[in-house]
Amino acid sequence: MFEKVLIANRGEIALRIIRTCRELGIKTVAVYSEVDDQSLHVQLADEAICIGSAASADSYLRADRIFGAAEITNVDAIHPGYGFLAENSTFAEQCCDCNIAFIGPLPETIAKMGDKSSAKNIAKSVHVPCVPGSDGVIESELEAKKLADSIGYPVIIKAAAGGGGKGMRLVNNSVSFYKEYKMARSEAEKSFGNGAVYLEKYIEEPHHIEFQILADKNGKIIHLLDRDCSIQRRYQKLIEEAPSPFLSEKLRGEMGRAAVKIAEKCGYQNAGTVEFLVDRNGSYYFIEMNARIQVEHGISEEVTDIDIVKWQLLIAAGEKLTIDQKNVKIRKHAIECRINAEDPAKNFAPCPGDIALYYSPGGYGVRVDSHVYAGYRIPQYYDSMVAKLITSGETRELAINRMYRALSEYLIGGIKTTIPFSRAVMMDKGFIAGNYTTKFVEDFLERTPLDALNFEGY
Ligand code: ADP
Repeated sequence: MFEKVLIANRGEIALRIIRTCRELGIKTVAVYSEVDDQSLHVQLADEAICIGSAASADSYLRADRIFGAAEITNVDAIHPGYGFLAENSTFAEQCCDCNIAFIGPLPETIAKMGDKSSAKNIAKSVHVPCVPGSDGVIESELEAKKLADSIGYPVIIKAAAGGGGKGMRLVNNSVSFYKEYKMARSEAEKSFGNGAVYLEKYIEEPHHIEFQILADKNGKIIHLLDRDCSIQRRYQKLIEEAPSPFLSEKLRGEMGRAAVKIAEKCGYQNAGTVEFLVDRNGSYYFIEMNARIQVEHGISEEVTDIDIVKWQLLIAAGEKLTIDQKNVKIRKHAIECRINAEDPAKNFAPCPGDIALYYSPGGYGVRVDSHVYAGYRIPQYYDSMVAKLITSGETRELAINRMYRALSEYLIGGIKTTIPFSRAVMMDKGFIAGNYTTKFVEDFLERTPLDALNFEGY
């Protein structure tokens, strides 16, 4: 096993990794930017090294500085977390070159799956259905337009290198095709330094359902069941639950096998996620694979009672996966609410600032993964998530009631957060009924009075 691991990330995921390392007796090195010196991940690591100024491009994205920190502290491995360099195949390769284990898949797998259109081709090659669309990236706009006309509108144009809900444009009709196409290309170029785009049929009101994968270096691959991430705003997840209330046991089994087939085909190692859209008839389509740990991994841990980060470390150190698929069972129902520093009553405007008061909920079945505390200043430079609140219970009803109770206890003073939004969702009949789609948030915000999103206190 590793003796010392550097975590090339910040915030809650850095903390999440540090905690498991400590339980396994592994020493940890945190890296941080100048504005993150007060973050809990810096305080809880055994060593911490400042790698630059606030902007990610000057710190968390600086591979050279991260390797500098790794060399000084003499680590055996680097965990990239999610975001930043996590899906950068060059970074993974550089780790191998420096004889430092990269806690994630092989660089070539990251490259293959990081390009969404090449990932779709892999899925097709093992006969997993994909959303109808272009065969790979669009080479000619005329051909793309012809294809869009033939599959029918709406269609969605996606950046091949996209992620985090960015780089997608909906095209509602043939008239606006060229205009949207140009915008999509220039946005992709600006955001990802790669203007390649591809086209897909826009599935109306789908469920976003994904499968957690674990794969060791000996080719053993299992899945840890599904997560329903349909509660999204602007293609970004806000609330996730596991297992999905929409899936039948039959469909769950089928999709799980499809996810494993894709992972096998790309020679997957370590933890990853295969994402699908499922339409109202239960037809499912592969959309992408995330070659890293995901924000919402915690609900799968609660449902299956398997520590995914622990397995990431064991697998990267060359240990065999000792869990068999038949022993992965739904033990509980779990829900996660992302607590973002955003004002839901003001169109989710970001709300960085000082946390004046902080009281986090507790009790049976409640888990809070967060790097913040009273007196902590939320920097404006990074994403707005300040905590993940997870509740679990024997039934979905209990997990929902527990989430409502925990959200009511949660006090984060001084800034606005998404707590009131999530709390209102827990009381919503549509959510409670369980048959919601990615259109849920839009409809919910229309029917919910602003007062409900302004709620503060118990
Ligand atoms: P990202 O990598 O940016 O998260 P994804 O490809 O995972 O992008 O898609 C994010 C979300 O966008 C999905 O969960 C879904 O809500 C929506 N989406 C993506 N592709 C389609 C599609 N073809 N039809 C309808 N919605 C889609």
